[in-house]
Amino acid sequence: MYDIIIIGAGTAGLSAAIYGVRAGKKVLILEQKNYGGQIVNSPEVENYPGIRKISGFEFAKNLYEQATELGAEYRQERVVHVKDGKEKKQVITESVSGEEKNYETKTVILATGVKRRMLGVEREEAFIGAGISYCATCDGMFFRGREVAVVGGGNTALEDAVFLCGYCKKVYVIHRRDEFRGEDKLVQKLKEKENVVFILNTVVTELFGDKMLEGIRLKDVKTGKEQELTVSGVFVAIGQIPDNDAFVDLVEMDERGYIQAAEDCETKVPGIYTAGDCRTKAVRQLATAASDGAVAALAACEYIG
Ligand code: NAP
Repeated sequence: MYDIIIIGAGTAGLSAAIYGVRAGKKVLILEQKNYGGQIVNSPEVENYPGIRKISGFEFAKNLYEQATELGAEYRQERVVHVKDGKEKKQVITESVSGEEKNYETKTVILATGVKRRMLGVEREEAFIGAGISYCATCDGMFFRGREVAVVGGGNTALEDAVFLCGYCKKVYVIHRRDEFRGEDKLVQKLKEKENVVFILNTVVTELFGDKMLEGIRLKDVKTGKEQELTVSGVFVAIGQIPDNDAFVDLVEMDERGYIQAAEDCETKVPGIYTAGDCRTKAVRQLATAASDGAVAALAACEYIG
């Protein structure tokens, strides 16, 4: 039996693991994909206190190695269900090969993060890998010398555009409002680039092309005016949505699907905690994910006694 099972190996989950093992607890981390979470896609992190500059991948790798070297167990398995048997909870998983497993634990920390939001435009799924991408740092080099669009107005979209303008002939930044949600420093950086074009108050209404994406249709939300753009790539960076479907019967969630918890990271179920972007909170940042991990793990340790 484990003391703490952590679901999700992003910044919140791995931070929780560090605090759990250092408190002498038997900790298992379960992750359906690769460790690291969202930050692996950030080329540069400059706002984590105490670290001036680091790549997201390097940050995640350090965190993973720190947690596992301290003694946390790590398995790549998808959690399909959590059963609350009061003192003993069961976590049911499915491995990559489809094999089902059942783990027993005293406490659980839900740190599943969020998944990407899709544009919701027809043929979006069909063009994934054929022009539509959700990760500029992963796929940007395939568009070297081409014209591409980035959709979104947050830090991810702005960072993606900064990254892509180093590779691409032209980068259109398409945002549905005329003000950016992301940092002004990034907007200013983009304004200095000759190959970046801002298209504001605009949404994507159509994707076209045969097998590969060839262009997009846009609509100005203020004037209703439409235009077509010839681009071979569209990088969608319009935020995330929670990935908590496996826990709907377990914990309380808000209307958008985030797990209800206050700053103490406790859910309504004794022994079940939540940390990071998957829970209700005002600020979703690397620093707040790490701090949630610490808070949730220490609360779990206190519960175990
Ligand atoms: P975000 O801040 O939620 O921004 C999402 C953007 O997409 C917003 O501009 C939003 O428009 C737009 N949007 C949402 N739904 C849309 C739709 N259906 N169609 C068109 N546009 C849509 O998401 P994010 O940029 O991924 O960032 C998530 C969090 O991570 C933020 O807290 C961000 O600061 C943080 N982050 C930090 C770093 C860093 O520090 N290095 C890097 C990346 C991200 P509206 O503005 O109109 O709502």
